[in-house]
Amino acid sequence: MLKAYKYRLFPTQEQSDLLAKHFGHCRFIYNHFLGKSITEFKENNRPWNRFEYQSEIPKMKKTNQPWLKEVNSLSLQASLKNLDTSFKNFFNQKLKAKFPSFKSRRSKQSFSVPQNVRIEKGKLIIPKFLEGIRICFHRRTSGKIRSATLSRTADGIHYVSILCETEIQALPKTGKTVGIDLGLTTLATLSDGLTFENHRTINEFEKKLAQAQRHLSRKTKGSNRREKQRLKVARLYHKVSNIRNDYTHKMTSYLVENYDVICLEDLNTQGMLRNHKLAKHISNVAWGRIKEQLKYKSDWYGKTTILVGRYFASSKLDYECGHKNEISLSDRKFTCQSCGRMIDRDLNAAKNIHREGLKLYSTGTVENKRGAIVSHSL
Ligand SMILES: [Zn+2]
Repeated sequence: MLKAYKYRLFPTQEQSDLLAKHFGHCRFIYNHFLGKSITEFKENNRPWNRFEYQSEIPKMKKTNQPWLKEVNSLSLQASLKNLDTSFKNFFNQKLKAKFPSFKSRRSKQSFSVPQNVRIEKGKLIIPKFLEGIRICFHRRTSGKIRSATLSRTADGIHYVSILCETEIQALPKTGKTVGIDLGLTTLATLSDGLTFENHRTINEFEKKLAQAQRHLSRKTKGSNRREKQRLKVARLYHKVSNIRNDYTHKMTSYLVENYDVICLEDLNTQGMLRNHKLAKHISNVAWGRIKEQLKYKSDWYGKTTILVGRYFASSKLDYECGHKNEISLSDRKFTCQSCGRMIDRDLNAAKNIHREGLKLYSTGTVENKRGAIVSHSL
């Protein structure tokens, strides 16, 4: 099984410059071949071919792009492989992935090191950085190191994610199952009544972030003040996302430790990410993370996560009588129009999701029960 460990890096100025070259050159390879493949397809009807393009990289180094030699050649190949994966996802109709897009120098940067990764005496050693980059090694990796991905956030902080091949012991079975409703006011409501509130510090930071974002939008494009404000927003965003990440990790670990089958609504986070309201945007990021974390933690620890289709009317159906109520999004509590029962919207939804998920689980709609994650639409 593969497990990723993430650490902060503290490169020297010189190393930071060489890292910048790696980010830039890998982005160049990605964008260059994305552009080329679009032209080749439009003009000559030639399909995408990773290996043909890979063989062009050495030729580019000898002719127009000699500067590509400055960086690890395996990282350049890995960048092309990433593009290949984007194309494969796009052509796989089940995934409904978007057409690969050009990478911008302004967003988060990253490159992979597929081989020759070591950690020695508090330093990360990779090709072209043989003297080692100082690493904050707050926890040990376990298992054999396979590869590494280095990244730099919009506010200039470097991280490395190290992928290890490791044996993970399944967690003991508890005999309990649960349904979860994810929301904005309460982050998660469980079908047995337990709730995970949105962290108060997160709310405070989110307010600050929203304010900083508003200030940013008022600054003149291209001005010094705007650049300063942009950095401020990036830093706050980074902080919010760190606190959130920590919180969702604690929550998802609690869930896989305490329940064998976890039923979750399959929210369309991709669609909602384009939502312009910031608070909502951040919650959506958290929902996406919760889903991702439950997916791989279930897989590691021998538990099952089931996604109930996003068209399932979890919040409208009365769990007790089954009547489908007409309610507005703002109704936290409502009275069932058929049986007159007072309903807490989130708890009712969690119970519906629980029942629907278990139905899928027991009827075998879920194929691979161990660590399965399955979308289902009604
Ligand atoms: Zn009812």
